[in-house]
Amino acid sequence: MLSVSIYTLGCKLNQLESEAIASAFRDAGFPVIPLNEDEPADVVVVNTCTVTSKAEQKARRIIRKLAADNVCVIVSGCYAQMDAQAIAAIDRRIFVLAGDRKSALLDLPATLAAVEGSVCEHHAFSLPDSISELLRSPVPGNARLEQFRYIPNTFSFHSRAFLKIQDGCNGRCAYCRVRLARGPSVSLEPERALSQLRVFEAKGYREAALTGVNINQYDSGMDLAGLVAYLLKGTTRIRLRLSSIEPEGVTEAFCAAIADTRVCPHFHLSVQAGNDAALAKMRRPYTREVVEKSAALLRSVKDDPFLGCDIIAGFPTETAADFEKTLDLCRRVGFSWIHAFPYSPRPGTEAFCFKEKTPNREISRRIDALLTLAHEGRRSYINRQIGKKAEVVIEAADNAPAGFVVGTTETYLKALLQAPEGGKTPRAGDAVSCTLTDAEYTPVRRAYDMRGTIP
Ligand code: SF4
Repeated sequence: MLSVSIYTLGCKLNQLESEAIASAFRDAGFPVIPLNEDEPADVVVVNTCTVTSKAEQKARRIIRKLAADNVCVIVSGCYAQMDAQAIAAIDRRIFVLAGDRKSALLDLPATLAAVEGSVCEHHAFSLPDSISELLRSPVPGNARLEQFRYIPNTFSFHSRAFLKIQDGCNGRCAYCRVRLARGPSVSLEPERALSQLRVFEAKGYREAALTGVNINQYDSGMDLAGLVAYLLKGTTRIRLRLSSIEPEGVTEAFCAAIADTRVCPHFHLSVQAGNDAALAKMRRPYTREVVEKSAALLRSVKDDPFLGCDIIAGFPTETAADFEKTLDLCRRVGFSWIHAFPYSPRPGTEAFCFKEKTPNREISRRIDALLTLAHEGRRSYINRQIGKKAEVVIEAADNAPAGFVVGTTETYLKALLQAPEGGKTPRAGDAVSCTLTDAEYTPVRRAYDMRGTIP
């Protein structure tokens, strides 16, 4: 039987779509194995990202290596959407599937299973013409709605579920290539979202993360706040986690919906800068004042929520003085974590043509300054959780010491829990109530941030 691996770069959305593709292969009887570059599978799907040039370099390196090892390489995702030709030029034998045709990969396993007998394992890349045809022919039906076919049966990489509710973006951010790769915003109908969430709940999932490119642009007869309330009303115990949200989307109505205790008190704000000059140049639709207000609003409806954010360091035109304002905003808000990204010039974006460039040394200095604040924020947040109750969803962690399990709290911390003496050891996917006892925080990210005891 041909073996298959899925190599994923980029965001939670890409991971979710890879899970669905892996599910389709498993359902068709193909063993899906983790990617091992030294002993690769017969067929490898590379699900690419175009957010940074680094992500594209990584994709090219692995594609080149796998093709040289005679592996059947199928490349899709946002980078394939933006530069199919550049990728195809790496090796004439690889298949490139533009991102908006990625859903064809959900049909490939069944077709492959039907012709599998005729494929010589040693030359899997010489797939029968029918497969080549499938990968080259247009996706049947409405490609845009095809975007919502990515519903994995199981999540092999997580014991928590992910639900894609939105794709694409109508934003105009000057540095962003995602909107070019994924197109305008589309939303999953609330009824389909609810029925899928009920499937996850019935399967025993205790958490589902609502994900998309810009979920604040959710719009299908209701907005994101409406959808959250609708999903909570239609289910009983599964908790909801929101993927990245936009500061301008944190409204009173939104906060009223997320105040529900089944919505995890963990929010990741896509902030990008903390000074109005850069925000305007970035074409971000809010000011630093709105960022501060959004954090205060979230804290007004949740008890000490984990507040993370994304910041781009070194955006062209952002001066050192501007950046000091960004640091000042991060201190004022007191983020629990800061994802600091070095600015990556992206072809096709407005900022790519900006004359002013921030020297790499200065970008590194700014990243270091942000990370210092990030570690301070995370350490003080973790220390504030000592003694608090938490509900932990147990992860399949083979690195947990004997007699212990690791899981994710509703505040998105990793907790190491001692299994109750003589009691039943919780299994992956179980939700366990515990008391968080000790902080285990070190700057070098460990398998867990805190210890806890199960009563
Ligand atoms: S909001 Fe801006 S950065 Fe985010 S996907 Fe849309 S255009 Fe890109």
